Amino acid sequence: MATTLEPIAQPKIHQTECFIGGRWTPSVSGKTFETINPATEEVIAQVAEGDAADVDLAVAAARKAFEQGPWRKMDARDRGRLMHKLADLMEEEIDELAALETLDNGKPIRDSRNADLPLAIDCLRYYAGYADKIHGQTIPVRGNYFTYTRREPMGVAGQIIPWNFPILMVAWKWGPALAAGCTIVMKPAEQTPLTCLRLARLAQKAGIPDGVINVVPGYGPTAGAAIVKHPGVDKIAFTGEHRTAQIIMRDASETLKRLTFELGGKSPNVVFADADLDAAAAGAHFGLYFNQGQCCCAGSRLFVEEKIYDKFVERLSALNEKRKLGNPLDPETEQGPQVDQDQFNKIMHFIDLGKQQGAQCVNGGKRFGNRGYFIEPTMFTGVTDDMAIARDEIFGPVLSVLKFKNLDEIVQRANNTVFGLAAAVWTRDVGKAHHLANNVRAGTVWVNCYDVFDAAAPFGGFKMSGMGRELGERGLDAYTETKTVTMSLA
Ligand code: ADP
Repeated sequence: MATTLEPIAQPKIHQTECFIGGRWTPSVSGKTFETINPATEEVIAQVAEGDAADVDLAVAAARKAFEQGPWRKMDARDRGRLMHKLADLMEEEIDELAALETLDNGKPIRDSRNADLPLAIDCLRYYAGYADKIHGQTIPVRGNYFTYTRREPMGVAGQIIPWNFPILMVAWKWGPALAAGCTIVMKPAEQTPLTCLRLARLAQKAGIPDGVINVVPGYGPTAGAAIVKHPGVDKIAFTGEHRTAQIIMRDASETLKRLTFELGGKSPNVVFADADLDAAAAGAHFGLYFNQGQCCCAGSRLFVEEKIYDKFVERLSALNEKRKLGNPLDPETEQGPQVDQDQFNKIMHFIDLGKQQGAQCVNGGKRFGNRGYFIEPTMFTGVTDDMAIARDEIFGPVLSVLKFKNLDEIVQRANNTVFGLAAAVWTRDVGKAHHLANNVRAGTVWVNCYDVFDAAAPFGGFKMSGMGRELGERGLDAYTETKTVTMSLA
């Protein structure tokens, strides 16, 4: 199939500059970088390349807005109202935003329009509702004192996000920060800066005061590191690779910043012989290939009980063969390109390693088409726990299918990884489901489903998959400090 692009909705590019203190400005250095359409490998736009000098200006604007501006002090209900307004504006522009996301990231329009955007809007609304419900406690203490706690905004939040869910990551980060009364310096990923900039424009239109949200596009080791090291930033919320988190932890140690991390995974997806096999096959397919396999919680280690292994692999193979690849702006397309050449090369390298180490490549394994970073849905069988494709995060459409014999063995093998972001189990036996849910070391466990997200349900990792939780009431902890006030009643 050729990958010629006949765009159904070419979105307009309005914003390509830094957004600082409510103003759009070129980078101080005047430098720009290209953002590429991964489906065609063509340049979409030149974007301002911010670095330390731009971060200085953004932090100054965010500090001023935090310390002097109305944001933190305004009636919390009004903060919530402005957040609702931003969600309303996103809903009004939902088609345009979805198309822009698809253009910059390559994800199919059916996903950006029906998953990313609704989830992002819902997340902002969820936290808008929390703005006036963040409060402390009164605490009975010994002696003649009155003690209470206040939950105060943490200050200026530095937020660094990845390219796999650009709009959704903005919502996950802005939602709790804005509700808590923090101000923000955000760096979108260099591969996908366009929708974050567009949302900053909508935030201004919604009436969120200047300086509350600042966006500095640019690269990680320059703009990102400058945010992490800046003494005017109180906390860092980061989503990305665990190796980057290790650098951030070191860089943030000088100023002892609060850190929340949402990192990678190698999530086990366990299918028992007694499961509804059609549902399990559909779930395993979706759990890995959704978003071109570029999900931190992708079910990339699929464990199938020995007695149904061959039958299950056949079902999966049929689903893989049917998957529609092509122009991501076509509503029929199920799988678009990988985000860039680097990711494409990395995934192809893992496919080579899988073959070299003796796994059987049952589907795919090759580039799709002749332009754009498309990779066929790839499935390896006969995978063993020690192979690179069973150990390392591939972040692409490559499924490893492993065999298991019984419940005791599977818990130990599921946990045999440095990661602990998510896991799933497919079975009709509630005993087995609970055994796995209780014993697998992961932040989220799905039973007879996969990738079910809700703004109200906390998400984050055990082990090297993260620190802290996003979403839900717990997500606010990352943006508030508790202050204890004790008053003498004598
Ligand atoms: P990915 O492999 O998903 O691109 P990264 O961890 O490299 O994951 O990138 C996630 C985000 O972290 C991006 O916005 C990137 O620019 C940023 N980043 C990369 N390196 C650093 C760094 N040293 N300091 C701060 N941010 C960084």
